[in-house]
Amino acid sequence: MKDLRRVRIADLLKDSASYVGKEVDVKGWVRSRRGNKYVQFVALNDGSTINNLQIVFDLAKFSDEELKPITTGSSIHVQGLLVESQGKGQTVEVQAEKLEIYGTANPEEYPLQKKGHSLEFLREIAHLRPRTNTFGAVFRVRAALAYAIHKFFTEKGFYYFHTPLITASDCEGAGAMFQVTTLPLNELPKKEDGTIDYNEDFFGKQAALTVSGQLEGELGATSLGAIYTFGPTFRAENSNTPRHLSEFWMIEPEIAFADITENMDIAEEFIKYCINYALDNCKDDILFLQEHFDKDLVERLKFVVENDFVRLPYSEGIKILEESGKKFEFPVYWGVDLASEHERYLVEEHFKRPVILTDYPKEIKAFYMKLNDDGKTVRAMDVLFPKIGEIIGGSEREASYEKLSKRIEEQGLDGMEWYLDTRKFGTVPHSGFGLGFERLVLFVTGMQNIRDVIPFPRYPKNCEY
Ligand code: ATP
Ligand code: MN
Repeated sequence: MKDLRRVRIADLLKDSASYVGKEVDVKGWVRSRRGNKYVQFVALNDGSTINNLQIVFDLAKFSDEELKPITTGSSIHVQGLLVESQGKGQTVEVQAEKLEIYGTANPEEYPLQKKGHSLEFLREIAHLRPRTNTFGAVFRVRAALAYAIHKFFTEKGFYYFHTPLITASDCEGAGAMFQVTTLPLNELPKKEDGTIDYNEDFFGKQAALTVSGQLEGELGATSLGAIYTFGPTFRAENSNTPRHLSEFWMIEPEIAFADITENMDIAEEFIKYCINYALDNCKDDILFLQEHFDKDLVERLKFVVENDFVRLPYSEGIKILEESGKKFEFPVYWGVDLASEHERYLVEEHFKRPVILTDYPKEIKAFYMKLNDDGKTVRAMDVLFPKIGEIIGGSEREASYEKLSKRIEEQGLDGMEWYLDTRKFGTVPHSGFGLGFERLVLFVTGMQNIRDVIPFPRYPKNCEY
């Protein structure tokens, strides 16, 4: 091998005119090999783009024996001249001069032989599925969206604030939390009354993985002005749906001095920014996903960024659902926690665009949401999306110490003094929301199942790798 510097296939294809006529050095995994006894064509992919680079092996230069290890999934290093391609399907190709085999992939064993494996099958080999076109595209889009999120908030003056993953505050219902303990589960230390003695546990008290960074995020917002979190959250709810994971990533901005309207404005601007970023920067991947999974993908993405979201109080949403004449699986009445079928009816059939539903009954929302003057509803705002249902849940927060402590008491929550201090000392109106990252990735990629947009999905009875 000559002393050349490797070029990423994405960079080479983006700027191919400047590489034509030059010797290039490329490395990657073989997607396929075909040809005849004079010439062999290899489709090489290095993960930097959905597009493969065609490598041409002239059998006058390379023996059958030398090329034998080049099978689907093997990894190779090639040097050669980049030329304009005569064939269809690519503009340039490499005329191989030097070949180094990094690793073989026995065709008898390598599971990704042919195209068109089902997503279910690929989920069972999630450790290899990033090597497929589909998952390469999904995970590149996912990475781009993560970057867009940091870019959006940083440019807006929000600080990235790290909230804990292990927490001792049971803010949103301890039932859905994964407990964290080092106690011996077979012989738990007991107190005199028979209950478990958590004094003996690692932290000296009961601890769990966080379901949300919001409460700690509020401490950040009421000091730094505006913050966002972006990290994993864990929910032990037994929801086997295409929209729930046991481990998912959440983005939670929290903004001091913002009311619910400003909160909605930011949520809408934010989500449109992310979608636009993906449209601008992940074109090839999105077009691939559109072609293979979702014919209306680009149209739907453009529609969302080009149109205002509907803003509608929950009570009016209920009225629309009641008057729709539609047979829902779950009944609709004022006070019900909307199911995904209700949310999707409003978005997909009634308004035909995203809807921000506000002012929900306080009984179905968290204790920290600001109570409206009617005493019955709270200043919640959920953003509902086509195909997804709820993508964002947020609210203006209760800023009054008295009202908030009353609600905490009503719900029997303990150990919230640290949280109440935000209201006790220099309280301010403030708002925030949580975006489920995988639901955004789901929407932007057009995939159907949330388990296909995170590299290693965790869900009930599944924790591989
Ligand atoms: P849902 O009603 O869909 O179960 P939620 O009301 O429990 O969601 P929130 O507590 O408001 O959700 O969380 C904020 C956001 O996090 C949601 O809008 C959604 O995008 C996302 N989310 C919630 N639960 C999950 C989950 N189990 N897996 C993936 N994303 C989730
Ligand atoms: Mn919610």
